[in-house]
Amino acid sequence: MAEVHRTRRGALMELIRKTVANPPKECVIWPYGHSMGYGKVQFERRVQQAHRVSLILYSGKNPPHLHACHGPCHNRLCINPLHLAWQTQLENNADKHRDGTHKTGKDAGANRKLTECNIRAIRNDPRRHKIIAKEYGVTPNYICTIKAGNAWSWVPMDPPPDQGLFS
Ligand SMILES: [Zn+2]
Repeated sequence: MAEVHRTRRGALMELIRKTVANPPKECVIWPYGHSMGYGKVQFERRVQQAHRVSLILYSGKNPPHLHACHGPCHNRLCINPLHLAWQTQLENNADKHRDGTHKTGKDAGANRKLTECNIRAIRNDPRRHKIIAKEYGVTPNYICTIKAGNAWSWVPMDPPPDQGLFS
């Protein structure tokens, strides 16, 4: 039994190392176990998010306070390090920006809930504003201003995603 487990774990890390060593252009979808939509793998004696481990190995860094953020693909199961970046905590910026530009309480609340990751995902989300808004607990109008770049304007707009990333 232990043999089987070890073999399987080896295969998981092998896929990550192979991907990191020679990342392709397209998404690399994690075929193994996942939870909360993210691939899981045992790394340095802990179960971690597979895409995070991929970025750790690729970047040679493991900043504990940063997220491994997907962009431009926003595919949670993608472990291609070229599609990942360490996300800085922009909450301070968000607060400053909100105080300066977003005067309404509604916007302030919406702003607080979202992260830079969310903003990138929203801007690339092809679904209707109403559906996206419901998912993030904000108003459709707010989704509209995010997509237009009027809200969260300091988060750079991604280039348009490759065709075929969304099914
Ligand atoms: Zn990807």
